[in-house]
Amino acid sequence: MEYQRERCRRLVLVPLPFQGHITPMLQLGTILHSKGFHITIAHTQFNFPDPLNYPDFDFLPMSDGICERNVSSHNFIALISGFNTNCKGHLQESLARIMEKEDQDNKIACIIYDEYMHFAEEVATHLGIPSIILSTSSAAKMQSYLAIPRLQKDGYIPFQDSMMLELVPGLQPLRFKDLCLQISKNLDDLLQMIAKALDPRSSSAIIWNTTDCLEQSTLAKIQQEYQLPLFPIGPLHKTVAATSISLFKEDQSCISWLDKQSHNSVIYVSLGSIAFMDNKDLLEMAWGLANSEQPFLWVVRMDSTPLPQGFQEAVGGRGCIVKWAPQKQVLAHNSVGGFWSHCGWNSTIESISEGVPLICQPYFGDQRVNARYLSQVWEVGLAWENDMKRGAIEEAIRMLMVGNEGKLARQKAKDLKQKIELSIDHGGSSYNSLNDLVDLILSF
Ligand code: UDP
Repeated sequence: MEYQRERCRRLVLVPLPFQGHITPMLQLGTILHSKGFHITIAHTQFNFPDPLNYPDFDFLPMSDGICERNVSSHNFIALISGFNTNCKGHLQESLARIMEKEDQDNKIACIIYDEYMHFAEEVATHLGIPSIILSTSSAAKMQSYLAIPRLQKDGYIPFQDSMMLELVPGLQPLRFKDLCLQISKNLDDLLQMIAKALDPRSSSAIIWNTTDCLEQSTLAKIQQEYQLPLFPIGPLHKTVAATSISLFKEDQSCISWLDKQSHNSVIYVSLGSIAFMDNKDLLEMAWGLANSEQPFLWVVRMDSTPLPQGFQEAVGGRGCIVKWAPQKQVLAHNSVGGFWSHCGWNSTIESISEGVPLICQPYFGDQRVNARYLSQVWEVGLAWENDMKRGAIEEAIRMLMVGNEGKLARQKAKDLKQKIELSIDHGGSSYNSLNDLVDLILSF
């Protein structure tokens, strides 16, 4: 209520249109709306959220010129480059028209943009509007990006195969294999994309979906690089009332299935929206789950290869398989005792916020950094670095859920959940940071 008199200020939010990026941006929009701001979501035609789910927001479509409809780790860089090239003119014209109206309701206080949608900063500068960056991944990932020029200078990049398991100087506990620069055909494009994402240009601050109790020391190191206020206000999904932000239809039937399972007994398996198990690995996973004798909830996406014949009959009611789960609800359910995850940042922070320990099977990008922190720093995860073989999968699941080897992770996950709850509570670090962010926006 204290911000009531400022209710007329409008914020324009520009998400990167992938599930793991749209989610935190819309959560941020919901939080800032509750603080009295009008919210406009400037979105691409590619992968946009259903406006009907957000009656409080305005939506501003931008033509993106993108023909490709699928996202994969292979076309990620090209898609991002396309958005930055194609959306700028459209956003600039649309905002200029809004600003012409000049009434209090349409006064744009600030543009908040995903770190990869940097064209929005150019638009903001052109129109004389302040801008703020939203970083949707961990501070640890940003720190690893910031080290790239030094690693290049010292001749480490491009990596040699033999170095992959060595610790990266100055970035412990990360190894070279944990950086997102695995030997890659388009390394130059990747480095260019990272350099652009790292450059704050004229932006006034960086918002993070993380919290001090997870990443305070990393954020302090990042602060030495940027002369900007950093606002770690996460986990966003714990501050905001649950609205579904899924681009896919959530199958709620798994919740009634979870209701019938015993406390902490279920292993939840999901690789997020992009990572993909090939046919062979999927087969091993299926039989590993079947043989583990633990109840399991498995997200096998629509774009996945089919499950092996006879598998569903073999597991009967002990397994629940859905194409897309209401993940936050799943992780908060008291039947769920473990998460086999690809370690995308949203999945990571959603899991530890609910005290659910993980088996960390990262695929690409920042997932390896998150996985390493989960297992080595926060100690809430068991690293999965083996070939996918059913016997080892079965063993890892048992270790995490009931074995002695998983005891520490189970306990640490509970401890971290409590710390996170304190950080978003009245007077906690994320709570205070959010108020500071609102004050900054009001000062524009
Ligand atoms: N998610 C979901 N249902 C699923 C799988 C994933 O709601 O069946 C959500 C999950 O809660 C998270 C997001 O999709 O918020 C995935 O983001 P993340 O950063 O973990 O991974 P990405 O999809 O970007 O690789």
